[in-house]
Amino acid sequence: MPGTTFSLELRPNIPPALARLEQIACDLMYSWDRDIRGVFWRLDHELWRACGNNPKLFLRRVAQSTLEAASRDPDFLEDYNRALSAYDSYHAAGTRHEVLEHLDPAKDLVAYFCAEFGLHESLQIYSGGLGILAGDHCKAASDLGVPFVAIGLLYRQGYFQQRIDSLGRQNALNVRTNFDELPVSPVKTVDGSELLIQVSIADREVWLRVWRAQVGQIDLYLLDSDVPDNSEEDRQITYQLYGGNSDTRIQQEIVLGVGGARAVQALGLKPTVWHINEGHAAFLILERVREQVQAGFDFETALELVASGTVFTTHTPVPAGHDIFNHAQLKWFFQRMLPQLGASEDQLMALGADPHGANRFNMTSLALRGSRFHNGVSRIHGGVASSMERYVYPEVPPEDNPISYVTNGVHLFSFLGRAWSQLFHDQFRGWRKEILSTEYWNRIDDIPDHLFISIRQRLKRDLFEDVLERVERQHQRNGMSEHVIAEATRSLRTMDTSMLVFGFARRFATYKRATLILSDPARLSRMLNNPERPAILIFAGKAHPSDQPGQALIRTIYEMSLKPEFIGRLFMVEGYDIALARNLVQGCDVWLNNPEYPLEASGTSGQKAGINGALNVSVLDGWWAEGYDGSNGFAVEPVSDPNVRDAEEARQMLDILEHQVQPLYYSAPGVGYAPKWLRLSRNAMKTLIPRFNSGRQVMDYVSGFYGPAARQAARLSADDSAIARELSAWKQRVRERWSGVSLQLLEVPPSTLSAGQTLPLRIAAQLNGLSPDDVAVECVIGRLDGSQRFLPKSSLMMTAQAEGDRYVYSIDLEPLAGLQHYRLRAYPGHSALAHRFGMGLMIWL
Ligand SMILES: *Cc1c(COP(=O)(O)O)cnc(C)c1O
Repeated sequence: MPGTTFSLELRPNIPPALARLEQIACDLMYSWDRDIRGVFWRLDHELWRACGNNPKLFLRRVAQSTLEAASRDPDFLEDYNRALSAYDSYHAAGTRHEVLEHLDPAKDLVAYFCAEFGLHESLQIYSGGLGILAGDHCKAASDLGVPFVAIGLLYRQGYFQQRIDSLGRQNALNVRTNFDELPVSPVKTVDGSELLIQVSIADREVWLRVWRAQVGQIDLYLLDSDVPDNSEEDRQITYQLYGGNSDTRIQQEIVLGVGGARAVQALGLKPTVWHINEGHAAFLILERVREQVQAGFDFETALELVASGTVFTTHTPVPAGHDIFNHAQLKWFFQRMLPQLGASEDQLMALGADPHGANRFNMTSLALRGSRFHNGVSRIHGGVASSMERYVYPEVPPEDNPISYVTNGVHLFSFLGRAWSQLFHDQFRGWRKEILSTEYWNRIDDIPDHLFISIRQRLKRDLFEDVLERVERQHQRNGMSEHVIAEATRSLRTMDTSMLVFGFARRFATYKRATLILSDPARLSRMLNNPERPAILIFAGKAHPSDQPGQALIRTIYEMSLKPEFIGRLFMVEGYDIALARNLVQGCDVWLNNPEYPLEASGTSGQKAGINGALNVSVLDGWWAEGYDGSNGFAVEPVSDPNVRDAEEARQMLDILEHQVQPLYYSAPGVGYAPKWLRLSRNAMKTLIPRFNSGRQVMDYVSGFYGPAARQAARLSADDSAIARELSAWKQRVRERWSGVSLQLLEVPPSTLSAGQTLPLRIAAQLNGLSPDDVAVECVIGRLDGSQRFLPKSSLMMTAQAEGDRYVYSIDLEPLAGLQHYRLRAYPGHSALAHRFGMGLMIWL
C-alpha cells in the first residue's frame, strides 16, 4: 500500500472531578500502591495493559467518554477518593521516629547516586539486580521519610529489550523512548525555562538536562545529554545503559558523578551525606574535591572533607562489575577539570590505583579512597570485598579493615503478591507499619490452610496466564507451527494450579550458571514428567549484548525446551523485566539459585520469592547464607574443589528437588500443597518478610552509615574545617614517617604463670618523630584455630612513657585461665579518624 501513514493523538481533557489523576500518574508511588494502580485499571483494563501499565501514557490515550462516565460513577469516585486519601496521608506521614534518632530532616539530606534505578516497568532505566535494589532503596527511604534525594541517568533507549528467535538466539532491541510518556518532568528554573547544567568532558562542555521523577516522599533526579545544543555524539552519551565502549562508559560516569554533583548544586540542595551506590558514580568525589579546592582548601584537606560524609557500597566480587579506565582516558576526559583539582597527575592517578597494573584507574579504588564509610551487601560479600580491596589498607588484616556490610532487602509492597496484600489488609490491619518487627509476622501461622493455599494458587494462575501469553506470542512471531505452540503450552493451558512450579530468573551472567540443573537431562526429564508428581521449570533472563557465553546459555535452554522430553515442561521466556519478575517470584513454588560461591554478592530475587511463600533451593551464598534457618527452604552446600564443583552442586540441587521437594509438596492425598509443605512455606514468609525487606536495609544504612557519616562530616567541617585541616596534615606526617616506626620487645614474657600473677609486657618503640599520641600500641588477645590462624577476641591498649629517644609501651595483663595467645601491634591513631584502622597502616611485633 503506497503512501504515508500519519498518526494523530487526541488527548483527552481530564474532567474536574478527576483532576488529580494527573498527579498520581506522575508519582512512582503507583509502582507499589495497588489502590492507585487500580484507579487506572478500573477505567479501562485493556488500555491499561496495552500501555504497559504506564499511567501517564494511559491518561493520554484513554477515551474522553470513559473519563466522563467515570466522573459521574459513584462507585468509581469512591475508589478514586479512597486512593487519594491514602495518597495524601502517605505524603503527610513525615519521618519515622527510628530515623529521627540518627538524622535531622531539618538539616540532613542523603544524596544517593546510582547508574540505574529499577522502580517500575514504565521506566526502563535498569538492567538487573543493582537497579532494582536502588529502586527499592528509594521506595523504602520514602516509606520511612528519610531526608533523601536520588540521582541517576535518563537513558533515551534504556536497557535493551530482549527477543529470543526460533533458534534460541537473543536479539537485543534498542527502543527509543519518548520522555513525554515517562513519569518524569524537566526541572524548570525560576524564569520557566528548562534547567540545564554543564560538565567538562575532554576538550568541550556538554549540556545536561535535569529531569525529576517523584517516588512518594522523595525525588529522583535524572540527567540526560540528549540536548539540541550538544553535538550529535554528545547527545548519545546517555542513550544506552551499559552500552557502547569504555569511552562511552567513562563519559556516562562523568555525567553521573560530576554532572550529578553539579545538578545537586544547581537545585540548591545541601546534602550532608553522599552515597555512592556502586563505583559508577565515584567521579562525584572529584567534582566535590574540585569545589572545595576552588573554595580555597588544599587537595588533601578537600579530600578529607569530601570523604568524611561519603558512603560507598560495593556490589559485586565479579571483576567485570568494577570499572577500570586507563590513565590516558583519565587525562583526556578530565583535561579541563584536572587543573582545578589542586592535585598533580600522580595524586589523581593514585586515587584510582590498584595492584593489578600500573596503568589502571579503578573506580572501586577511587570510591574507597574518597569515602570513609564502606560496605558490601551481605555478610559473605562483606568479607569477600574486604579481602578483594585489602590493598587500600595494605597493612591491616582484611577482617579488621573498614569494609563492613548491609545485607540487601526487597521492597515488600512492590513484590508482595496482590492476594497477600489483600489478605494482610483484611486480617492484619496496620501491617504496613510492622515490617521491621519479627514478632509481628508470626501471625502468618494464623492464616487458615485453605486460605493460604487459595492465595498461592491464585498467584500461580496469574503466572500461568502471563507465561502462556508470552510463550504464544514469542513462538507465533517466530513462525512456529500451531502444533508446536500447542505442545509447548499444554501444561499451562490446563491452568492446573496444583502442579509444582520451579523458577529460575536473573541476569544470564555466567557465574550464575543458569544451565547447571540441566547437566543431567535424563534425570531432570524424569522428574518433570513424573506422573504422580508433575513439575514445570520456567527460565527467564537477559544476557548482556556483548556477553556471548551468557547468550549461549539462553540458547542451550531454549533448544532444550523444544526437545520432546521437555516441551511443555521447560520454558525459556523472553523479555525478563520487573513485571515478569513480579509474576515469577509470586507464582513459583520453588526458586532456584546456583551461583558459583562466593560470587553472588547478595541476590534478591530469592527474597522476593520467599516473602511470597515460595521455597528457595539455593547455594549457601549471598543473602541465603543468612536467610536459611533449616526450616524455611533448602540449602546447597558450596563445594570447594573446582574440579567437581559443578557436578557435585548440580547433583545436590537435583537430589533436593527429586527426593525432598517433590515428595514433600505431594506428600498428602489430594494434589499438591501438602501440610508439611505449607509449614515450610509459612516459615519462609515469617522469617524472611521482616529480615529481608528494604525498610530494614535502609534503617541499617541510616543507623550504621548515614547518621555516622553526617556526624563525621559535621565534625570535620566545623570551625572553618579545623579538624579536617588537622587530620589531613596529620595523615601526611604519618605517611612520611611510618616506615621508620619500629617495635622491639624489651623482655621475653614468660610462657607459664601461676594463678594470681600478672603478665608484664614491655615494648620499646621508635616513633621516628611521631608522638605517642599518634601511635597506638595494642595487645590483641585471641586463640589459634585448627590451621594455626590467629583469631582475635579482644584487645587492650598499652600506655606509653618516654625513655630517652624512644617510648616504652607497657601493660600488666591479668591472664584468664588456660592456654591463650596474644599478639602486639601498633597503628596510627587519631581521634578524628572515621575508622581506627582507616589509615591502612599497622605493624606487628
Ligand atoms: C530482583 C531482580 C533481579 C535480581 O535478581 P538476582 O536474583 O539478585 O540475580 C534482576 N532483575 C529483575 C528484573 C529483578 O526483579
